[in-house]
Amino acid sequence: MIIRLKLSEFLPDHHHCSLNQIELKEQVDQKDQDQKFLEFGRCNLLKQFLQSGSHSHFIHLEGKKNGQQIACRQQDQQQYRNFENLYKQHNSMLVEEGIDDLKFNIFKANQIIGRENSLIIITYHFLSNNEILRSINQDKLMSFLSNIYQGYRRDVAYHNDLHGADVVQSSQILLNQGLRKMAAFDALDEFSFIIACACHDYKHDGFNNQYHINSLSERAIRYNDVSVQENFHVASAFEDLMRPENNFLEQLDITQQKIFRKRMIESILATDMAKHFDKLKAFQQCIQKDTLGFNTYLPCPSDQPSKQTQDLFNIAIHAADLGIHCRTFELSLKWSELLHEEFFFQGDEERRLGLPTMDIFDRVKNDVSKNQIGFIKFFVLPLYISISEVVPDAKEQVENIESNIENWGTYKYTHPKNIELE
Ligand SMILES: [Zn+2]
Repeated sequence: MIIRLKLSEFLPDHHHCSLNQIELKEQVDQKDQDQKFLEFGRCNLLKQFLQSGSHSHFIHLEGKKNGQQIACRQQDQQQYRNFENLYKQHNSMLVEEGIDDLKFNIFKANQIIGRENSLIIITYHFLSNNEILRSINQDKLMSFLSNIYQGYRRDVAYHNDLHGADVVQSSQILLNQGLRKMAAFDALDEFSFIIACACHDYKHDGFNNQYHINSLSERAIRYNDVSVQENFHVASAFEDLMRPENNFLEQLDITQQKIFRKRMIESILATDMAKHFDKLKAFQQCIQKDTLGFNTYLPCPSDQPSKQTQDLFNIAIHAADLGIHCRTFELSLKWSELLHEEFFFQGDEERRLGLPTMDIFDRVKNDVSKNQIGFIKFFVLPLYISISEVVPDAKEQVENIESNIENWGTYKYTHPKNIELE
């Protein structure tokens, strides 16, 4: 049975207020093609219906906005339970593809898993043994993660859901290599950090902070030009988390909820590149020689353990955010193409709007190979060398970075004409 609701008269109450038409389909039985037309008098009735939990089947809400098809979904609880089954189906493939190490090819895994499940499955892989899962409503967690997938934009070439999943995976490699041992992480800390990584670029629109500041965008105005995108990502994620169907925090006590929120906010704000040198310097100051001459990580003793943990999370998420340069050159190149697709789109917009722009956003002026070497040597390599001083296994990343610098030195970059975004 498919129920269609015509909502054109009462859309002002609804967040998709510019929609001309919304159809609600309740797929009860694929074989039963009986269709009903219902008219709802008020849009909040629809919202009540969606939030009531009384429906037990998959609901798909879709409509047209400015001629483009858009969709939002309210999936039923059974659907979320199926994520665990879905994860089990893909678990051996993920292990074979090296989900726990640097060779992991997220593009290949995505082709096997399917785009709408990749971020959720990869995030779930790292959450699956976390004891916090036993204390929360997992259906709501999966509803939230599904919401996060949907909020990432597929028309943004680089800062999308796959990048979110890539940062989850890259940061976990660093924790597994030794960062985890350097502070007293508990299950809630790590749970919060994994979710923060998954959400860290939520609803990114493909423009950097400087573009937002220069264009006096709504986001820049709201956040007073301070870490504009990062503030927006974390605030938007929390806005969605607070929706009753997503709020998996309900079963945690107030103290745990506060810890989760603090880890999310601070980890996501730490991804602002403007803080790179301050964070790196603070991290380097904690690296000291022990009596045997070995490098040891010694955080400032006056810092609370909670801050010491957060400082490490901040380094891990920031390093993971630059993690494309630690992969094989083939993967690094693919990510770089997507990143430059986004950069050049921004540069085109800046020129069109008469805003200041930089050569790296200019599709003609940017010597990509040369600039990649400059960026890697200036930002990425010193960060990973510092990490490897206290996490010896991270020398693997340093070796890959050095090899990528050599590869960029001989590679003549031509930006692809057509990049597949889906
Ligand atoms: Zn990012």
